[in-house]
Amino acid sequence: MEWDKSASLLLEKVPPFVQKTVREKIETLARERGKTLVTESEVMEARESFMGRPQKTATPQAAVVKNPIDNKKLSILKKYPKYFDKDGNPVLYQIKSCRGAEVNCPFLITNSNILADKLRNRLEELHFTEKLIDKIEGQILPHHTMKLAVAGCPNSCSMPQIKDFGVHALEPVYVDPDCACTECMQCVETCKEGAITIQGGQVSIDKDTCVHCGLCARVCPAGSIKTSEKKYRVMIGGKVGRHPRFALVVLPQAEESATLKVLDVCVDIILSSKTEHRFRTLVEQHGIEEIKKRI
Ligand code: SF4
Ligand code: SF4
Ligand code: SF4
Repeated sequence: MEWDKSASLLLEKVPPFVQKTVREKIETLARERGKTLVTESEVMEARESFMGRPQKTATPQAAVVKNPIDNKKLSILKKYPKYFDKDGNPVLYQIKSCRGAEVNCPFLITNSNILADKLRNRLEELHFTEKLIDKIEGQILPHHTMKLAVAGCPNSCSMPQIKDFGVHALEPVYVDPDCACTECMQCVETCKEGAITIQGGQVSIDKDTCVHCGLCARVCPAGSIKTSEKKYRVMIGGKVGRHPRFALVVLPQAEESATLKVLDVCVDIILSSKTEHRFRTLVEQHGIEEIKKRI
């Protein structure tokens, strides 16, 4: 659809990361009215429509039109392409997945890309980027962005322990007393943690040493060791830099829904903070035990 000059100028005032969406919505509205050219009146009409009927058309993106981004805020970040999507819109989070699924990793428990996509969707639903841009006064710097990582097994190749929000999959194991152990010792040879002892046909797993990689269950020919439902270990507040810190465990064995809930709480902590501290500092200010109570 064609746009006249004044309409185009108005569109240019919309923050770049919502321009595409706003353009589509205005053109849809114009089409519904039988127009083939978007003029200033269509833009203003569309704008009133977005803001006046929120239940139908006021998408969160349209709401951002009320608070256009001061592009100066992004000038430093623009030196780093990784903080922008393919359309040039800012994205103030990075999610790193391990490559287990792509390379058929023998340790893989769960395809980390699946959870990574859900975390990404959640951050988009929460309008994390827009709200963070709005919250930060002055220049947005790389350390203001949120770092996340998901790994498909406890080997943690994507390094979730040093991210603001880190997750690795795990496969809890247990001994099934109904399946007699044949003392083949394959599980003992497989376990890199030395967590298994076999004595007189009795299998014992040290729960403090076991990292729930599930490998022993995969090699047990008798079914004496079994796995239960796959879970996620969820950690927050990891960082590198001048004072590196490992992330603190929030949920040692979480379902997907609880994992997403932890993300909600983290986002709320970041966006409601009055200061621009690193996330680890915010976690320490709130207290990990208090954060756990919110999940
Ligand atoms: S984290 Fe685990 S599943 Fe992912 S690539 Fe590393 S070893 Fe493989
Ligand atoms: S799940 Fe992994 S760490 Fe735990 S006992 Fe089995 S092989 Fe060892
Ligand atoms: S692999 Fe299974 S059968 Fe073999 S020693 Fe371990 S528990 Fe027993």
